[in-house]
Amino acid sequence: MSHSQSQKLYAEAIQYIPGGVNSPVRAFGGVGGEPIFMQSGQGAYVTDVDNNRYVDYVGSWGPLILGHTHPVVLEKVMARVQHGFTFGAPTAVEVALAKRVTELMPAVQQIRFVSSGTEAAMSAIRLARGFTKRNKIIKFIGCYHGHSDGLLVAAGSGLLTFGVPNSAGVPESVTQHTLLANYNHLEEVAALFSEYGDDIAAIIVEPVAANANLILPKEGFLQGLRDLCDQYQSLLIFDEVITGFRVALGGAQAHYQVVPDITVLGKIIGGGFPAAAFGGRKDIMAHLAPLGAVYQAGTLSGNPVAMTAGLATLDLIDQPHFYENLNQKTSVLAKNLSDVAKQHHVALQVKSIGSLFGLFFTEKEIIENEADVKACDINLYKQFFHAMLKEGVYFAPSAFEVAFMSAAHGEAEIAKTLEAAERVFKKTLRNQC
Ligand code: PMP
Repeated sequence: MSHSQSQKLYAEAIQYIPGGVNSPVRAFGGVGGEPIFMQSGQGAYVTDVDNNRYVDYVGSWGPLILGHTHPVVLEKVMARVQHGFTFGAPTAVEVALAKRVTELMPAVQQIRFVSSGTEAAMSAIRLARGFTKRNKIIKFIGCYHGHSDGLLVAAGSGLLTFGVPNSAGVPESVTQHTLLANYNHLEEVAALFSEYGDDIAAIIVEPVAANANLILPKEGFLQGLRDLCDQYQSLLIFDEVITGFRVALGGAQAHYQVVPDITVLGKIIGGGFPAAAFGGRKDIMAHLAPLGAVYQAGTLSGNPVAMTAGLATLDLIDQPHFYENLNQKTSVLAKNLSDVAKQHHVALQVKSIGSLFGLFFTEKEIIENEADVKACDINLYKQFFHAMLKEGVYFAPSAFEVAFMSAAHGEAEIAKTLEAAERVFKKTLRNQC
């Protein structure tokens, strides 16, 4: 398998783009080697610039629940784009998509569209602060909510710590209002509330943590957060940028039956185009400009091409048995991967929910916070990644990213993945375990 065209492009890219990429994980720092440049995608497959074809489990990090270039989405986007790219004025399609989302997610009574998940989470926090007139937020170690200053905090040894920025360029005066707790540790959250409760505007949480590989919420965790927020009159923000329309049509909030005050959405809502959103209770959303005093705006917010792709995608996933089929395929793959690993004495845990799955090279069966994920054998993941790539299967270039299945993945792709994994476990990984 040659990567000569990718190598050529990368050599050129690093001259003009820092690190040669426009988002750090793409640089392959997590697995070593050089990034692969993609040229096309069709269904469950991506093809790189050297014409190598891979079964794709990255799915552009989540938007492509239908797979690449779905013909119906494509047709609607092509029809829309001919009539103008952007107006900076309201269009009918954004109203249709807003209405649709409020129907699918009853907790979202009103919605505001933006262009990225970062913007959506940042705006949701500002709204929560404006609404409650409080300063502090609680976030969980290992959860990612985009790269706005106050949310770029994940580190912090020990419990109940104030946030220390984990990027240069973020003043501590900004992150001093970000309180951290370990995911799934309700008692830490309760302790933060008992100390700072009257100044906590909101908890922001990924209802399924999908940015530290895949960590499922323990039973009662999300409801416990809801109860604490009610007790202290704080807002509960679910960041459903990954889980929205993914773990269920109504998102993780439907799956776990816990109602947030504000929901952050992204990825699938734009059908592969740049769109994201935040929404929630009407009385909270009324605090946004132009109605209220919380300012928020965007030149390309509600872009009609992105709205069209999002609406077409929601139409297609809102079909009988869509999730049943997709989720079933994912559990089959997860179970079989785990069995194949066992047969070859590779210590691999495979966790899944909906069409998300995570691979953990560890003996430990329980994965409940970021420390558990970090304790996995990262080197083994790196070897697995490169060996699978050679086999024509593209997983995320980092052990800390989740894998995405799409509706376009069928039996043939699952079989190809399992056969490849079997060869990889047999040849490459077996001796090392
Ligand atoms: N929140 C979550 C849960 C995410 O997974 C991401 C991105 N993966 C973001 C927010 C930020 O979204 P974006 O990359 O569109 O800014």
